[in-house]
Amino acid sequence: AETGRKHLAEMIESASVVLPFTGAGISTECGIPDFRSPGGLWTKNAPIPFGEFVASREMRDEAWRRRFVIEEQFGAAQPGRGHRALASLYRIGKAPAVVTQNIDNLHQASGVPEDDVVELHGNTTYALCLSCGRRYEVAWVKERFEVTDHAPDCTSCGGYIKTATVSFGQAMPEAAMRRAEALTLRCDLFLAIGSSLVVWPAAGFPMLAKRNGARLVILNREPTEFDEVADLVVHADIGNVLAPFVTH
Ligand code: NAD
Repeated sequence: AETGRKHLAEMIESASVVLPFTGAGISTECGIPDFRSPGGLWTKNAPIPFGEFVASREMRDEAWRRRFVIEEQFGAAQPGRGHRALASLYRIGKAPAVVTQNIDNLHQASGVPEDDVVELHGNTTYALCLSCGRRYEVAWVKERFEVTDHAPDCTSCGGYIKTATVSFGQAMPEAAMRRAEALTLRCDLFLAIGSSLVVWPAAGFPMLAKRNGARLVILNREPTEFDEVADLVVHADIGNVLAPFVTH
């Protein structure tokens, strides 16, 4: 891990545009379990696909019940050392943005401006009407749920209210995808951090960077399918590896 960190520091130093690309592993030290590790968020309950959410009121109620259960984890979580290190790279102008698969809002909380956090899978800290796009707070949905024992519908148009996340089967956010692609093509160092790199199309970005001539670093405690094409692989704890990069 020590030599990995030294090598990483040199690569960051010599790069002109660094693009951090993060997954659930950067947030585990903040108390938010990742996707696939034992005890992970969805090892108990398989995620509810988008088609099932829109097809039945029972599923919408179930989705919201599960969301309320994890509210304490997401609501109280604070950015970790990894988030703070990437915010430092942003602040000194090394990284123009952070591309993330996470939905926990922790890059924004660490000081990266909202406009420069490119969320590929949305955000679970608020909700949107699927029909008109009206925004709702989770706390409001919870209050309504407690009164009626059902998830509320949009007060403007009657549409379904869903967390602002991208479920399996739901369309990817086009603007975020385009922006992530442009950033990937612009960087000369791509840092894939805390992602198992198995969820597509997000997992395509590291290879796109590589094919475009950027150097690729993978920082993850487990191997990934892309390790053999990476210029540097660090199998270690993200917080420990990135802590020295925190400058504020
Ligand atoms: P993943 O769970 O598939 O992979 C996370 C990887 O991080 C694993 O390979 C794990 O070994 C590694 N990891 C965990 N803690 C680590 C640590 N401290 N140091 C080093 N490595 C560590 O996550 P993914 O690739 O992001 O895909 C899961 C999908 O589920 C995402 O697309 C996301 O939308 C969603 N999700 C989000 C959150 C969140 O917002 N924090 C949490 C769980 C799942």
